[in-house]
Amino acid sequence: MDEIRSGLSEVQCDVLVIGGGTAGPMAAIKARKKDPKANVILLEKANVKRSGAISMGMDGLNNSVIPGYATPEQYTKEITIANDGIVDQAPVYKYAQNCFSIIQELDSYGIRFQKNQNGDFDVKKVHHIGTYVLPMPNGETVKKALYRQLRRERVLISNRFMATRLLTGKDGRVAGAICVNTRSAEFLVIRAKAVILCMGAAGRLGLPTSGYLFGTYENAANSGDGYAMAYHAGAGLANLECYQINPLIKDYNGPSCAYVAGPFGGYTANNEGNRFIECDYWSGQMMQEFYNELQSGKGPVFLKLNHLAPETVSEIERVLHIVERPTRGRFHANRGTDYKETMIEMHISEIGFCSGHSASGVYVDEFARTTVPGLYAAGDMASVPHNYMLGAFTNGAVAGEHAVDFVKEVNFADYDPAAITAEQERVLAPTKREDGIPPNQIEYKIRRLVNDYLQPPKVTRKMELAQKRFAEVRDDLNTAMYARDSHELMRALETQSIIDCADMAAAASLFRTESRWGLYHNRVEYPGRDDENWFCHSILTKGADGKPSLTKKEIAPYIIEIEEHERDAYYKQRIHASEAAE
Ligand SMILES: Cc1cc2nc3c(=O)[nH]c(=O)nc-3n(C[C@H](O)[C@H](O)[C@H](O)COP(=O)(O)OP(=O)(O)OC[C@H]3O[C@@H](n4cnc5c(N)ncnc54)[C@H](O)[C@@H]3O)c2cc1C
Repeated sequence: MDEIRSGLSEVQCDVLVIGGGTAGPMAAIKARKKDPKANVILLEKANVKRSGAISMGMDGLNNSVIPGYATPEQYTKEITIANDGIVDQAPVYKYAQNCFSIIQELDSYGIRFQKNQNGDFDVKKVHHIGTYVLPMPNGETVKKALYRQLRRERVLISNRFMATRLLTGKDGRVAGAICVNTRSAEFLVIRAKAVILCMGAAGRLGLPTSGYLFGTYENAANSGDGYAMAYHAGAGLANLECYQINPLIKDYNGPSCAYVAGPFGGYTANNEGNRFIECDYWSGQMMQEFYNELQSGKGPVFLKLNHLAPETVSEIERVLHIVERPTRGRFHANRGTDYKETMIEMHISEIGFCSGHSASGVYVDEFARTTVPGLYAAGDMASVPHNYMLGAFTNGAVAGEHAVDFVKEVNFADYDPAAITAEQERVLAPTKREDGIPPNQIEYKIRRLVNDYLQPPKVTRKMELAQKRFAEVRDDLNTAMYARDSHELMRALETQSIIDCADMAAAASLFRTESRWGLYHNRVEYPGRDDENWFCHSILTKGADGKPSLTKKEIAPYIIEIEEHERDAYYKQRIHASEAAE
């Protein structure tokens, strides 16, 4: 049992980076590289050595823009189309222009990318239009390589500290963060001139069909704390109704990795073994077609490899069972699923927020700035769509470099010390009760309600009921949640982020009265896109009543024009019976 101790210390730094997964280490490294005198702290709830979505490794870069294969203009166009036009192109374009130099930098760290016989990067086509997927044969080394760089740049690392709330100054500028030690419950207040949030997706929002709280697709430590902290600090969050929903391996709930298998000839197929979508690139429309196939009675849906030569399947297995999720091979071996013989059953995942795979995130501009001065966000929790791992690295770098310049112009913002006392009371409340409801039961209840009422297709009445049920659970959470040790306290705090995200998901989904992004925002009463009224961002902030408040925000004028005939490219993915038979 991790005993609860009392204690409060305060430190200060120029730049505080919260979240040591993917974007965070790069933000810290780049800030220190640009200004070696800057005092940079990297704070992580787990341990930076093995934390975040890439903790075990990664199969490849999903969205590399490499000269000779793709151009920044083409990529920006592809992402604009894939995201149904709801994109401020400046951050996407900037990513596309910068990401090649980040690949070269990662290469110099010792992360090897696949090359062809001529020594050029061996990029594969998975997206609908362009060619962007770059395999990483030794992708299991990513974290180690990053850690070496963090040590080299002498970044101050604080492991096992969970950030709970941001501090803001009287002028609204960010002033730092309040954190709790996950092993002792001691408090740490970090004053900072700039804060970069890199806390990943909100991955524990829906409940996996396995019923396991931590059996999520996303890294299970990513409980939406970043989204909740930005919300409570007054930042705007964009398009939260554009959920993340993924095609995953049934029961295992990990990616089936059609991206890896596709270039070898693998594809997503129905129960008859027929291909029904042209392109396995994850988009809302791809998920809608997957859903339609299940509804049509032709499900389950599978990843099909059993038509390939045995040597090809072995090569695919070598990647899928070693690099990213080594448990996958064991899972299928225990089930007796031989990829050479049997198709691999897939299903539709629980919902989450994640810009890395869809678009829902804290609103940022092309410098990774949020709407709160001095507060930055990068990676899966920032609103740059379809960003994936290379987006986290590249925009983390953008944030680190911009923040370290910003801090030269400002001093520490003054915050109200009462904010710390109030946060201590909020955090410790579950430890002050004699008895009550354990956090895991509250979490289970919220996430079951999320599945019952928020999983698309979205129905207005269900989402309104969700809001009522969430309010009741919030009441239990505020008055009866009970934590016995500091580990349970961390779970209790995560539960509070999860219910904030659930409330935000319902409010944002009710606000946008149209359907967009395929299954991600399929509203039964409002079928079809309504560009006249809804070709805009929805921006969610914390209202004066303490509840989510929503407004529309214009899409910034496009930098790269999209022709009328190109706009619907991702809507033309279904393969019809006659084509499948060809
Ligand atoms: C299973 C899976 C497979 C994927 N495969 C690919 C692929 O093949 N190619 C590709 O390009 N992309 C892939 N992605 C996407 C890619 O991994 C992510 O987009 C990227 O790693 C996100 O980086 P991030 O820094 O935003 O989040 P993360 O790397 O998840 O880091 C977030 C960090 O924040 C920490 N944290 C959270 N809350 C707090 C708190 N309150 N206080 C302190 N720390 C906190 C977490 O512990 C974590 O370390 C995959 C993702 C997953 C989940």
